[in-house]
Amino acid sequence: MKKQLLTSVLAMAMFGSTAAMADQHKHEQDVAIAIHGGAGTITRANLSDEQEQAYRDKLAEALQAGYDLLEQGASSTDAVIAAIQVMEASPLFNSGVGAVYTWDAEHELDASLMEGLNGNAGAVSGVKTVKSPIHLAREVMEESVHVMLSGEGAEQFAEQQGLELVDNSYFNTERRYQQLLKAKEKIEKSEQPEQQAWQYLDLDYKYGTVGAVAVDKDGLLSAGTSTGGMTAKRYGRIGDSPIIGAGTWADNESCAVSATGHGEYFIRHHVAADICSRVKYKGLSVTEAGDEVIHGVLQQAGGTGGVIIIDAEGNVAMPFNTEGMYRGYMKAGGESEISIYNDNE
Ligand code: ASP
Repeated sequence: MKKQLLTSVLAMAMFGSTAAMADQHKHEQDVAIAIHGGAGTITRANLSDEQEQAYRDKLAEALQAGYDLLEQGASSTDAVIAAIQVMEASPLFNSGVGAVYTWDAEHELDASLMEGLNGNAGAVSGVKTVKSPIHLAREVMEESVHVMLSGEGAEQFAEQQGLELVDNSYFNTERRYQQLLKAKEKIEKSEQPEQQAWQYLDLDYKYGTVGAVAVDKDGLLSAGTSTGGMTAKRYGRIGDSPIIGAGTWADNESCAVSATGHGEYFIRHHVAADICSRVKYKGLSVTEAGDEVIHGVLQQAGGTGGVIIIDAEGNVAMPFNTEGMYRGYMKAGGESEISIYNDNE
């Protein structure tokens, strides 16, 4: 792989673009993709057979959408976006349709995307009318000179770029509305009713953020994450999902990561980038690095959640310290797995 990277760097220097570099790759490498649909208190006891099947089917559809593109020779970024868009369009996950409600019964969506070759990244936070926030993150990465746009400005940019805009009610679901009412009741009765929700939700909370990481035929890594954030969030709260380094990270010399969990902890501990730094500087495998951060650093700090990780050779790790995480991967050669609970069945 190192040799391949050197070739990449030389090609970049000579031709000055990713496309030119990709053209220079003589041999193709095995493709792979991994996805998550959120972590949390996901147990057999609180998921019916029908619900479990619905999650498995949607995860399989998302994986397949990304994998098919990789097989056809598309970039890892294309694959990550395709997989995430399947989940954004599904009410099962906390992203796009099915996003959680804010304190004021609206939806404020966050997303981010990063490419591992040259650190290209794009992110959006607090958008209310953009149908596919991950698409907007890509536009920010490719069509603007910025990395992160927020709120009304981001929506203005989306309109300018011709992205599909929808009324905020497009993201509504009854299930999430009931969760908001329950959360507000708990918060209002608590000792700190002006505080955010999760202190009072943790015991039965499912983070439903979605994400994908992939490696394409040129060995290039990409990572993306899309979310509605945390139920009953207030004051323009932004979590880790749109923060490059916290919820999303990709570096071809180490790995690509997408996170789900209690965002404040992922921001404080720079979780996604920390995992890749351990791969890069300590020489750890993605499994070792993921375990050190998720079961070590994060857990010791009291943070809950998980990540999906992939490296340029297609090695995948999916550690989490909650009871479950909707997750799966698909690799060249037909190896594939979809799991929900923490016993790997
Ligand atoms: N990480 C997200 C946030 O804190 C929540 C989630 O993973 O569902 O906004």
